[in-house]
Amino acid sequence: MPQLAIDNLSATYGKLAVLKSVSLAVEKGEIIGLIGPSGSGKSTLLRVLVGLLKPTAGTIAIDGRPVDFGKAAEVRAVRDRLAIVFQQFNLFQNMTVLENVTIAPVKIKKRAKGEVREEAKELLRKVGLGEKLNAYPDELSGGQQQRVAIARALALKPEILLLDEVTASLDPELVSEVLDTIRLLAAEGMTMLIVSHEMGFVRELSSRVVFMADGRIVETGTPGEVFETPQETRTREFVSKIL
Ligand code: ADP
Ligand code: MG
Repeated sequence: MPQLAIDNLSATYGKLAVLKSVSLAVEKGEIIGLIGPSGSGKSTLLRVLVGLLKPTAGTIAIDGRPVDFGKAAEVRAVRDRLAIVFQQFNLFQNMTVLENVTIAPVKIKKRAKGEVREEAKELLRKVGLGEKLNAYPDELSGGQQQRVAIARALALKPEILLLDEVTASLDPELVSEVLDTIRLLAAEGMTMLIVSHEMGFVRELSSRVVFMADGRIVETGTPGEVFETPQETRTREFVSKIL
């Protein structure tokens, strides 16, 4: 049974159809590299998965259990299991690094502060920020801030991590430190859906690459298949432009 089963999922913004009957089954520990031209619906797919946008049709199931997006409690339950990190880090500027990571588990999950703090320190050590616990976001580089954002997502103990262009707004020399953090999570077996323009990275890390265009999945395959022997014309055009 796949950990995440997406079946004929569709979504619209007003009258604009942006996700058109997308189906994808993700096994536990898989890393899906989601690629495609700007506007193809990658971010929309991730937004639907975390309950930020209601689908107009289709289903998702986690560990075989379908999610009813009409029920707020079920959408909240999904948010407990999937976490998303965006291009913009959106850290709380008036809170320290440690407070940024502990706030949601303490305030929303009502977990014991001491325990959450210990876990948060451990997570921040893991992303290489053990020395920055009491720093404020504006004292950090973009790469450091994005690693705080990743630690903050992990503090909610997600089973599946969604990463939407998390290196896209970083200066080039800061990209690799964030990619190293993602590599670490991959090595630990975290299931991830990664939207990224870092094609070398997508190719290296993905167990499967999914190419989207115009709201649909056009082609799915191993990195070798999609990047070296794409079957569809649109995939070939995209790959020839980016490699
Ligand atoms: P991608 O992440 O692949 O670049 P998106 O999922 O962001 O694509 O966008 C898919 C389509 O939805 C695009 O046509 C985009 O213009 C449109 N879109 C995205 N966000 C909104 C929004 N908040 N309101 C209206 N249209 C949107
Ligand atoms: Mg996007």
